[in-house]
Amino acid sequence: MPYDPQNIFAKILRGEIPCQKVYEDDHVLAFHDIHPQAKVHILVIPKGPYTDMTDFSHNASQGEIAALFRAVGKIAKEQNLTSSGYRILSNIGLNGGQEVPHLHIHLFGGQVLGPMLIRWEEEGGAVSC
Ligand code: 5GP
Repeated sequence: MPYDPQNIFAKILRGEIPCQKVYEDDHVLAFHDIHPQAKVHILVIPKGPYTDMTDFSHNASQGEIAALFRAVGKIAKEQNLTSSGYRILSNIGLNGGQEVPHLHIHLFGGQVLGPMLIRWEEEGGAVSC
């Protein structure tokens, strides 16, 4: 899928739409999610035009990759989440439920977050192996 420069996070990066910034460096911007799904819900995004983790892991430079993951750790520390624990998650494509086609890492914390996913067997799935 080609990168869509009109996606909402591209507009935030260009300053066309405001955000509640929590962190910025040369390669990364992080801001509060507009509809938080936990007490702390931050989105960490690369500044480069990458649609998702697959695109990023193939095409980003070593510097961009290091910056994104170092930023996650720095933000978790700055938000005092490291001793209590937190969760990171990145949705990719249709099955992943990705809504915004610019790579973003969700950082959740500030509360007990519960199970990672609805167990698919409980939703009627069956184990095939
Ligand atoms: P996805 O479903 O793509 O993994 O997550 C997209 C996230 O972006 C959602 O959690 C949604 O609330 C958030 N979001 C969508 N539009 C905006 C916006 O304009 N500003 C901010 N801060 N978050 C947004």
